Amino acid sequence: LIAGEGLTTAASRDVVSPYSGEVVGRVAWGSAAIARRAVDEAHDAMRTPLAAYERVEILLRAAELIAERGEELAQVLSAEAGKPIRAARVEVERAAFTYRTSAHEASRLVGDVVPMDASATGAGRLGFTVRVPVGVVAAITPFNFPLNLAAHKLAPALAAGCAVVLKPSSQTPLTALMLAEISADAGLPPGWLNVVTGEAGEISDVFAGDDRVALISFTGSGDVGWGLRARCPRKRVALELGNSSPVIVESDADLEAAVPKLVAGAFGYAGPSCISVQRIYAHERVYGELLERLTEGVRELNVGDPSADATDVGPVIDRASHERILAWLREAIDEGATVETGGPDALSEQDEACGLIHPTVLTGVTPEMKVSCAEVFGPVVSVTAYADLDEALGLANGTRYGLQAAIFTANLPHALRAARRLSFGSVVVNEPPTFRTDQMPYGGVNASGNTKEGPAWTIREMTHERLVVLAE
Ligand code: NAP
Repeated sequence: LIAGEGLTTAASRDVVSPYSGEVVGRVAWGSAAIARRAVDEAHDAMRTPLAAYERVEILLRAAELIAERGEELAQVLSAEAGKPIRAARVEVERAAFTYRTSAHEASRLVGDVVPMDASATGAGRLGFTVRVPVGVVAAITPFNFPLNLAAHKLAPALAAGCAVVLKPSSQTPLTALMLAEISADAGLPPGWLNVVTGEAGEISDVFAGDDRVALISFTGSGDVGWGLRARCPRKRVALELGNSSPVIVESDADLEAAVPKLVAGAFGYAGPSCISVQRIYAHERVYGELLERLTEGVRELNVGDPSADATDVGPVIDRASHERILAWLREAIDEGATVETGGPDALSEQDEACGLIHPTVLTGVTPEMKVSCAEVFGPVVSVTAYADLDEALGLANGTRYGLQAAIFTANLPHALRAARRLSFGSVVVNEPPTFRTDQMPYGGVNASGNTKEGPAWTIREMTHERLVVLAE
């Protein structure tokens, strides 16, 4: 979709339901030439800037249209991503909120007054900064939150005054294309949002090599993200990457409140969230009770068809992910881990054919096992006992990632110690590490990335400060 025109290419790609294998859509398969054309259009569009009030009106109208077309968006999202329909509906509501929040931020893009007379040379001058759009933004999004993660790039970019070329995940491009349609219906002039589906390497080569692309905003896996960053030393490259999310459960934690949150945080969708609960460290005094309550909660989850209202856990995204997750589970079991519920043996032939993996709780996991140190991105959680908080903090930090971590405790000094010592972009107390609201700054450190998303923060990244000095 370039400059408001839906292009047809010689090649096309089917979008397939991860659950049923049915074709749920078909998209054009663009080349480098089409990506370049998209950048041309975005660059040209920015020659006629939109005033802040116009950007606010478009963003608010788009938020309304997202809500109006909410059920249609949720159905498409659920079909292409295999996301349970209830979770898909929540994602749609969140995307509308992301647009609304971006609209609010667009109307308060302020600068600073600089105290020029703090030096003799500056005395008598007036200095202030204004925020200027960085230029064309190239956005690359993953399969797991295809609507709201696209919204987290498109809406702040428009709020900042930047035109966008979006390359969505090839597995889930349909909701992103609908979002572009909605933006046009909301009054966004042609060229401000262009969506290119096609070969990722070829398209990203254009993004990396074209100086008119000022910022690449990437959400996805670490190898791809850091590779892009290394190739573009003179561009802003904002990275939102993976995690192996730890949560510490102290002996004074309210287990009744914590366990349902942990179950939802580990197994909602089917675990492919960058902040899915993956490692639970429970104080030895509550380890047994927590494990019992957790496995009970997990056994109540409905696994199956994502289009059914009752479904909590749907399929993983594709055959390769299914095989990888089962291989990691088998490896952990061979190395001494115990399956408390779920696991490879719980799968029927029908489950296998539909890409399902039953929610799996492991014990006896060691930090070196892939299910602990790497990102599983599936419905797998491990539970490990610890004796004191310092030990738990060390275990939680035993990862190259650093997106979000959490602690459940009633002990304020312990919560504060965790907040100081956990080497993550956010530390959440008495919510799982899966907790996110769309206005908060969200992003990782270490291998998990180099930026914060959340409209107010993204807009800052997508603008630069221009200093204006006035002399008499
Ligand atoms: P992925 O394979 O890295 O794909 C992400 C995007 O990058 C897709 O659009 C993909 O296109 C594109 N891509 C693939 N190869 C590329 C290349 N060589 N150059 C440029 N772009 C390329 O990740 P995924 O499997 O979709 O998503 C899972 C990962 O995303 C996990 O690690 C997860 O933790 C992370 N994630 C992070 C956040 C966060 O906010 N921190 C949120 C969600 C997900 P194709 O689809 O065409 O291959």
